[in-house]
Amino acid sequence: MKAKEVTMVRRNLLLAALIVLVITQIGCSPAQKADPYGGWNVHDMKRPQPVIVAPGSENSSPPSDALVLFDGTDLSNWQRDNGKEPKWKVENGHMEVTEGKGSLRTKRVFGDCQLHVEWATPSRAEGKGQSRGNSGIYLMSKYEVQVLDSYANVTYPDGQAASIYGQSPPLVNASRGPGQWQSYDVIFRRPIFDDDKELIRPATFTVLQNGVLVQDHWVVLGPSQHEKQASYVWHEDKLPIFLQNHGDPVRYRKIWIRELPEK
Ligand code: MG
Repeated sequence: MKAKEVTMVRRNLLLAALIVLVITQIGCSPAQKADPYGGWNVHDMKRPQPVIVAPGSENSSPPSDALVLFDGTDLSNWQRDNGKEPKWKVENGHMEVTEGKGSLRTKRVFGDCQLHVEWATPSRAEGKGQSRGNSGIYLMSKYEVQVLDSYANVTYPDGQAASIYGQSPPLVNASRGPGQWQSYDVIFRRPIFDDDKELIRPATFTVLQNGVLVQDHWVVLGPSQHEKQASYVWHEDKLPIFLQNHGDPVRYRKIWIRELPEK
């Protein structure tokens, strides 16, 4: 074969390879790409469990521009979810979810923010699945970062600790054991609605649990829902932070927030 023919054959082979690559990529548009739930049902137990990662130790104190929402002494920045005085137990530098005393919300309202929260599930690991150390931190009172004892406690991945409840499992399971203090550092961007109250930009979550990235700019599908898919409904630009009372005595401490300038 002449050198010219060899070059032609090579060129044709290269072209064929490129065509195959393009076709493969097009054919590789599975349900995951079109389906924001990645092809899984809500709370699907067949969804792979996040890999377990042992977090390092850490020590955090609020930066100088943070607004401290709970310093371990009182609930002056909080009210019960019905607007009444909050009655959760406060002792030894933490507050504790108290049965029959409702959920809590901040008196102030927030949109885009960086939020730091430390929490601990009960030392005695009673119950299983969603019934072990369940609480939750809702940004704008609507978008839940799940709080749960997820140390050796299997549940549906989109409902374990550090999940965006009902939507996104954490990238890994960085949970500490029951009774141990854990942290969430949350960067939240609120959803944007236009003048006709139509959604023009969804909310996003980036979350670190115990210093480990667990949610990487997750595009939120709508307010957190149980056993059904989420969808947006217009709401105000700023709403309270909400701490869920799920009946388990989960503790919270060192809660601070930095409001972020809108993008
Ligand atoms: Mg919860």
